[in-house]
Amino acid sequence: MADAMRPAGLGVRWRPSELLLPTPAGLYCPPADIHIDPVRPVARALITHGHSDHARAGHGAVLATRETLAIMALRYGEGFAGSRQVALPGEAIRIGEVEFRFLPAGHVLGSAQIAVESRGLRIVASGDYKRERDPTCAPFEPVPCDIFITEATFGLPVFRHPPAAGEVAKLLESVRLFPERTHIVGAYSLGKAQRLMALIREAGYERPIYIHGAVEKITAFYREEGVPLGETRLVAGQDRKALGGEIVICPPSATQDLWARRFPDPVTAFASGWMRIRARARQKGVELPMVVSDHADWDDLLATIREVGAGEIWVTHGEADALVHWCGTAGLRARPLHLVGYGDEGEAETEAEAADALEA
Ligand SMILES: [Zn+2]
Ligand SMILES: [Zn+2]
Repeated sequence: MADAMRPAGLGVRWRPSELLLPTPAGLYCPPADIHIDPVRPVARALITHGHSDHARAGHGAVLATRETLAIMALRYGEGFAGSRQVALPGEAIRIGEVEFRFLPAGHVLGSAQIAVESRGLRIVASGDYKRERDPTCAPFEPVPCDIFITEATFGLPVFRHPPAAGEVAKLLESVRLFPERTHIVGAYSLGKAQRLMALIREAGYERPIYIHGAVEKITAFYREEGVPLGETRLVAGQDRKALGGEIVICPPSATQDLWARRFPDPVTAFASGWMRIRARARQKGVELPMVVSDHADWDDLLATIREVGAGEIWVTHGEADALVHWCGTAGLRARPLHLVGYGDEGEAETEAEAADALEA
């Protein structure tokens, strides 16, 4: 009713849901007729980053950073979309009367937040993000906005990620203590695996790092992009019995199958924010839990919300209720969007990784 009463002329400030709203296919911007990270095939899509829950194949036109487009092509083949367009960092791209800008999210190589701006209203869809330093990608850039859309994968006070360098130091200490055992580290094949390699190199470890086939393509791409990963060798073709004392990086699913048991007396490690929950580590049979995450922890979620200065917060996925509640206590308007189909440190990405592992 109220809609029909509103004047339709240019310059009338949008109500937020007229500029961006949650739909079953994902966030939708009606004036530009475009979706952000759609979970179903759509005519036009903006993609924040290459994780399989955000970047799906089968859209008509895709606009994303050069790195994200390259990662999609690696994962899905060159025909992953009808057409593609590169978004340069910070460049304003106008579609209809809406301006879009891609800004670094600090999550994985090429990851971006998307600022959506029209008629004086600015909404920032941050995708997945983190604030901790990461040698493999550009750091998160806080963008002042009216509405900030955030994930809440680790949106509970129990989730506090220690510095990643310290977790890597634990791994290297274990390698030193158990030189006859193979250290098998489960890490998501896009982002986490390469970040671990880079951190292991920063810690001074110079031996080759052995990798599972499912990690190979993305690792080669990071190397081409100039990320210093040192020497990596494929496990396939190696005599596994000779890999005592070496570090092997593989998708999380591979640590639990037969593949992992063929190494000499393996130590199983898993790098994830979920490793904060000891019961989860035990349940997965993880001997060496490493709390390393590519998502903001509780403190960084709150700090980021304060920093961007938005009066209203929308929470896409994860522990939305706790974060929405905190926003209320901080005097901010907040609501959960209940978007379905996201969660790359949860089951969705694990299944995708399992599929990757089968292919490799
Ligand atoms: Zn992600
Ligand atoms: Zn995600």
